[in-house]
Amino acid sequence: MTATPAASSATPAAPAPSASASSPPSPPSPPSPQPASPASPASSVSPGRATLFFDAVVVGAGPAGSAAALELARAGRSVALVERGPFPGSKNVYGGVIYGRVLDEVLPAWWEEVPVERWVVRRSTMIMTPTRSLSIDYRSQAWGAAPYNGMTTYRADFDSWLAGRAVAAGARLVTSTVATGLLRDAAGRVVGVRTDRADGDLRAQVVIACDGVNSFLAKEAGLLPRADAAHHTLGVKEVLSLPAEVIDERFGVRRTEGVDIEMLGCTRGIPGGGFLYTNADTVSVGVVLSLPHLAVAKVRPEEIIADVKAHPAVAPYLRGSTVKEYSAHLIPEGGYDAMPRLHADGLLLAGDAAGMTLAAGIWLEGVNFAIGSGLAAGRVAARAITVGDVSSAGLASYRSDLEGQFVLADHRRLRGAPEVILSERIQQRYPGLITDIAEGVFTVTNPTPKPGFTRLLRRAARRNGVSLRELAADAARIGRVFR
Ligand SMILES: Cc1cc2nc3c(=O)[nH]c(=O)nc-3n(C[C@H](O)[C@H](O)[C@H](O)COP(=O)(O)OP(=O)(O)OC[C@H]3O[C@@H](n4cnc5c(N)ncnc54)[C@H](O)[C@@H]3O)c2cc1C
Repeated sequence: MTATPAASSATPAAPAPSASASSPPSPPSPPSPQPASPASPASSVSPGRATLFFDAVVVGAGPAGSAAALELARAGRSVALVERGPFPGSKNVYGGVIYGRVLDEVLPAWWEEVPVERWVVRRSTMIMTPTRSLSIDYRSQAWGAAPYNGMTTYRADFDSWLAGRAVAAGARLVTSTVATGLLRDAAGRVVGVRTDRADGDLRAQVVIACDGVNSFLAKEAGLLPRADAAHHTLGVKEVLSLPAEVIDERFGVRRTEGVDIEMLGCTRGIPGGGFLYTNADTVSVGVVLSLPHLAVAKVRPEEIIADVKAHPAVAPYLRGSTVKEYSAHLIPEGGYDAMPRLHADGLLLAGDAAGMTLAAGIWLEGVNFAIGSGLAAGRVAARAITVGDVSSAGLASYRSDLEGQFVLADHRRLRGAPEVILSERIQQRYPGLITDIAEGVFTVTNPTPKPGFTRLLRRAARRNGVSLRELAADAARIGRVFR
């Protein structure tokens, strides 16, 4: 096995870490991985297979994995970052917006070198029925200047950039390599990973599983029970080409400014939502759909995206565009109460492998949570290696670290959100109720006098099958969840 020392020509298609004025000084040289000697205890783990030694092995060069590898390398630890794709981000799917402030910990003034399509200055929430829409449209010019709020970027670019930071700090990136299982010692402790390469297993004091949703390694370790479909949605998206100046004009922005539109009520009653994001010269449009409901609805996700694209409030943005790419991926939406145990002897979970995407209606954030948890996992692993205790107890401070920062604090605060947001009334009745009220308010009915708001509310509630008692209960529930 070749441990790629840097994202270089030895790693197909992986770009070199950006060279810019803010590039870090020469990275510390970590101890080189050593082939297993015949006397090494590791040789008994996988007889007949060569073994390389590292302080830590991180599986998955998504945002969680690269962040974890970066922290370990910065602490002077030898770390292998194993990625099944030919380069980081090559297989990764998401909607398109990253909230970058978590990168403050990675690099000061990260915005000067991060690969970005557009900086989001407009965030809109659109409540829809098949023929109507009501938008809450927020715009902030402050978001168009450093330190920025959100950016659209392609994962192939972003993940390669972040992995490049880890490599620059000394991590060894090993691409086109699948971790196929955990290596354990006689006592059952995790001591490395088996890979799909005939020439090598990777042995380490700590393994950090950052292999994404439905983590194979977390399941093998017994941390993740069988996937519960109710805790997952399917995200599907299309990337559509449009000239940059057409995007500017239609979305009301200028060259580096971008727009994020989230949609509710566009999924044929299947719990979920839609999104529309601007890149430099493409737009990403997609939907997120509850898996169990999709299974019984007998409708294909492409048909729902087609509905969204044809909606009268969306179609004018997309006129004349051509589909460049289609992709689909699972999203762990169970939130705080559905998360697995985060550590075992010699093992930590981070990012989507631990179910850390925050899906709370107006928020769909996973990359920042993956980076936050990856950084914490890398720090805790480095500390545990230094003090010589990589047992589950020795790694337990990972959980408290995350509870003390946004990763688990946000999840804890919003733990009831997935259930509320995906509930039948919010998904199927409130879009009609809200747009009925808007229509009543904005329709001029002369010579009939204007109806009062209470009358409009009662009428809309009746029409959409919601009792006033249910309305009050939902308002209280939403108030509690988003307090
Ligand atoms: C449709 C959709 C829209 C989304 N929109 C957004 C959004 O707009 N903003 C946002 O912040 N989040 C969004 N998310 C969530 C976000 O994509 C995830 O939360 C984030 O990617 C998690 O990062 P991660 O590093 O934990 O896992 P991943 O990004 O999934 O990375 C896992 C990595 O591990 C590698 N891997 C897996 N198994 C192995 C193995 N056995 N051996 C070696 N390598 C392996 C994979 O190739 C991959 O590179 C969206 C998700 C979807 C599906």
